[in-house]
Amino acid sequence: MLKKISRKNCIHVMVIGTGGCNGCDIEAINAVLSPYYDAEQYQCFLTFNPREADILVITGCITKFVKDSLVKIYKKVPEPKAVVAVGSCALMGGVYGNIGGDLGTSDFIDGPLEKIIPVDVKVPGCAPRPEDIIAGIVKAIPKILEEK
Ligand code: SF4
Repeated sequence: MLKKISRKNCIHVMVIGTGGCNGCDIEAINAVLSPYYDAEQYQCFLTFNPREADILVITGCITKFVKDSLVKIYKKVPEPKAVVAVGSCALMGGVYGNIGGDLGTSDFIDGPLEKIIPVDVKVPGCAPRPEDIIAGIVKAIPKILEEK
């Protein structure tokens, strides 16, 4: 009930870095949250609680160390929910994903992300531009609102 009322007014975004070089987080996500790009103008607010989240934004390759935790967090996000994969690491392992085995996998990563959890929007780049990340998040919002 409270969740439905909240979603009418704002969308809560939870950012999870699962590996990689942190370039996506430092160069792109931080910029998205800054006053310059101002994600809040789209009523998107940051949360660190999966039970409050509507959209998960995932950056980095999916290391075997974080895979199980990521699935647990995904399950805790209430429906309807959307996942935005940010950066080439999340999409296909990036620079870490072709060391051995299939695309997006290696001895220490288990990607790509879409093999682990459903992905609704993909934002390519290394690191992606902040405006592309905002566009990806905004693209995921209709799914949240339509399924409400
Ligand atoms: S996509 Fe590029 S910038 Fe982002 S975590 Fe991977 S290597 Fe770093």
